[in-house]
Amino acid sequence: MTLTNTTTNNATIAIIGGGPSGLAAAEILSANGHDVTVYEAMPTVARKFLLAGKSGLNITHSEPYERFRTRYGSAAQQLIPALDSFTPTDICEWTEKLDIEVFTGSSGRVFPKRMKASPLLRNWVARLETQGVSILKRHRWKGFRGDALLFDTPEGEIEKTHHAVLLALGGASYLRLGSDAAWVPWLAEKGIVIAPFRPANCGFDVEWSALFRERYAGAPLKSVAVTSPAGRIEGEFVISQHGIEGSLIYAHTAALRDQLETNGTASFSLDLTPARSLERLIRDITKQGNKSSFSNRLRKATGLEGVKAALLREMVPDIHQLTPEDLARQIKNLAVPLLRPRPIAEAISSAGGIVWDEVSENYMLHKLPGVFVAGEMLDWEAPTGGYLLTACFATGRAAAEGMMDWLKAYSISSKSAKRFCVG
Ligand SMILES: Cc1cc2nc3c(=O)[nH]c(=O)nc-3n(C[C@H](O)[C@H](O)[C@H](O)COP(=O)(O)OP(=O)(O)OC[C@H]3O[C@@H](n4cnc5c(N)ncnc54)[C@H](O)[C@@H]3O)c2cc1C
Repeated sequence: MTLTNTTTNNATIAIIGGGPSGLAAAEILSANGHDVTVYEAMPTVARKFLLAGKSGLNITHSEPYERFRTRYGSAAQQLIPALDSFTPTDICEWTEKLDIEVFTGSSGRVFPKRMKASPLLRNWVARLETQGVSILKRHRWKGFRGDALLFDTPEGEIEKTHHAVLLALGGASYLRLGSDAAWVPWLAEKGIVIAPFRPANCGFDVEWSALFRERYAGAPLKSVAVTSPAGRIEGEFVISQHGIEGSLIYAHTAALRDQLETNGTASFSLDLTPARSLERLIRDITKQGNKSSFSNRLRKATGLEGVKAALLREMVPDIHQLTPEDLARQIKNLAVPLLRPRPIAEAISSAGGIVWDEVSENYMLHKLPGVFVAGEMLDWEAPTGGYLLTACFATGRAAAEGMMDWLKAYSISSKSAKRFCVG
């Protein structure tokens, strides 16, 4: 069947994966009159998005946009056109149009006022359904069979064909929420190059002594600064059973993970007193003399006690024997060696995915005309701070626009096929 202008105006489109990137694409395509079906493997859509709501749903970031665009590392160049078309300001407006008010926290992160994802998702899905989007849950895509898409459903295996397909299957973290990367071999078979998935925004294992772990697992280190190849960043993190966790660590994950991969070792430098200079510490420690216990002198001179003082002892066992100068240097520049990143199943997001060379400017796979991709299944990573969801929304929308352009062009050049072509 030839795709006439009429059929391209209401082409039948499959979106596989009902996360933020798939739903963002569904919104654009259905608003433009296309017949959109979202196929979702799980019993409900957007489970990762809902879990993100448990920590407040950091939907985007309010920092100057020029800086915002740099947060995507080596993938920034590829992502910028999509981000430019759906900026953090657009996200706030979009959210408010869904009757969800947003606010900007002191860190510049933007959240829904109710700090939850469920009301936003509810309103969003209701709008999609009003626009005619059909959402088929418990439909697990199993790959291609000829031109058709193969699904496992409660009624058994089915085949479906559509004019175009968007794969929005997510990355490889938190697989229990649906994004299990099972699709990797199916696309690899078609010659698509996929960079191995690696944990991003995750904690690290550290070799704690049994005593330190027992006493301090769960304790937060507040108002500290961490320096790694990613730079110096102030914030807080938490001591865990295995090592360290928390937003300050996530900001350094990529740099430290890459260092571990390249060198086999990595450590970061911790400043336990960012508000006090080295000179002031030396002066205050020297003033204490040697009369009281080390712990008392440390507390009086530096304000360090509890988990911070314990971490100092943990990392430098002979700390009490150091000169005031050396002690102050350790406090300002404590090396914390890392063993390995935490497993990808625990990571907030993943690095790796379909490499950009495989994808056209329109987010179509060069080797599979008619098959588009968006979201975390592409090879990019970003720190926490709302950057992940922003790029998922933006790439979902960009892929939808790309698909509509392709459908228009296809209707002119195609002689026969109604189905998308799978290589
Ligand atoms: C604990 C946690 C907190 C987070 N907090 C934030 C935050 O505050 N801010 C932020 O920006 N980001 C946050 N993120 C990251 C953000 O949620 C993800 O980057 C985002 O959800 C990825 O969107 P996506 O649509 O690409 O993939 P996903 O959300 O993973 O959606 C992919 C969908 O595809 C479905 N699927 C997979 N395989 C198949 C198949 N074979 N057939 C059919 N369906 C399939 C999955 O079930 C899933 O519903 C958080 C993540 C986690 C885990």
